[in-house]
Amino acid sequence: MIINLTRQIKLIRPQGRASFPYSNSLYVDDDSRLVIDAGAGQAFGEIPEAEVDLLFLSHYHFDHTHGTSRFKRAGIMAGIQEAPGYEDVAAYIEYSGFSHWKELMVQPKNQPFIKTAGYPEDVLEKPGFREIKLSGTFQDRDSFTLGSTTVQALHTPGHTHGHYSFWFEKAGILFASDLDLSPGGPWYGEEYSNVEDLVSSVNRLIEIDPLIMLTSHRRVFKQPDDNIKQLLKEYLGVTLGREEAILHSLQEPRTIDDIEELGLVFEPLPRTQHIEFWNKMMIVKHLNRLHRMGLIEKTDTGAYIRR
Ligand SMILES: [Zn+2]
Repeated sequence: MIINLTRQIKLIRPQGRASFPYSNSLYVDDDSRLVIDAGAGQAFGEIPEAEVDLLFLSHYHFDHTHGTSRFKRAGIMAGIQEAPGYEDVAAYIEYSGFSHWKELMVQPKNQPFIKTAGYPEDVLEKPGFREIKLSGTFQDRDSFTLGSTTVQALHTPGHTHGHYSFWFEKAGILFASDLDLSPGGPWYGEEYSNVEDLVSSVNRLIEIDPLIMLTSHRRVFKQPDDNIKQLLKEYLGVTLGREEAILHSLQEPRTIDDIEELGLVFEPLPRTQHIEFWNKMMIVKHLNRLHRMGLIEKTDTGAYIRR
C-alpha cells in the first residue's frame, strides 16, 4: 500500500504486517527517484522499480535489505560506518556479536535464527551474509537534492553503529528506521549496539520535533494527533526502565544469567536461543554502562552488585 505524504514523498507499506521479515519503505518520486530501504516485498510492485535511481539503506539488517535486486538501475548507498558489512563477510559476522556466544550461552549455537523454509516469495533472499555492492556512502548531515525535495541523512547509532534516519526538513517528515517507536522498546543486541548512542540518537530526534514521523515497522505518526516527542520519550523510557530494573536487581549479587532469568529485557515469544543471546547482549550493554557510571561493581565470582 502507498500512503501519499506529499506530492513527492510516499510511504510504501508491506502487504501484511510491517514486521520481520518486512519493513516500511519510503519512496520519493521527484526528478531523481529515491527509495529508502528494500524490505517492503511485493508492495514495491506499485512503483516503477526499474526507474528508481537511488536506494538508501538505513542499516544492514536483513528486513531492510532483501529487496535490493528489484532496483536494477539504482545506485545503492549506505552509512559509511557500516559499509564494510555489505561487502565483507568477516565484517558482517563481527557486527553480529556472535563471537560472544560461547561466553554467554551454555548451549552451542545449533538452532537457525528463523526457519527460512517458510519465507514468502516476495522475500527475495535468505538471512545471512550476501554481498551488496554499494555505489557510495553517506555520513552524518549529508544532504541530497532530488529535484524539489531535499533529504538529509542523520547518523543515529545505537540499534546498530551505522544506523541512519532521514530528514525531509521542508515537509517536516522524519523517517527514523529502526528507532521504530515499538511498544516493546528499542533493540541493541549486537556487537556495536550501544545504549549511550541510542540515548543520544533518540534525544536528537526529539530535538528535531518532526511534524510527521515514519519508522520501519509502524504506522504514520502525525502531529497534532500524535504527540511525537512524548512517544519518543516513552520509547527511550523503555530502555532507561530496563537499566533501572537491572540496577535495582543488583541489591544482591547476580550473574548475567541470573539477570536474564528475571525477564527484564526483551521477551518476545517464542523464546529461542537467539532471543536469550540478544537479551544477554543487551544486559551486558547496560552492565557496562552502569559500571562506567560507577554504580555497580563485579565480584570475584563474576557476579555484579550495586555499589
Ligand atoms: Zn534493525
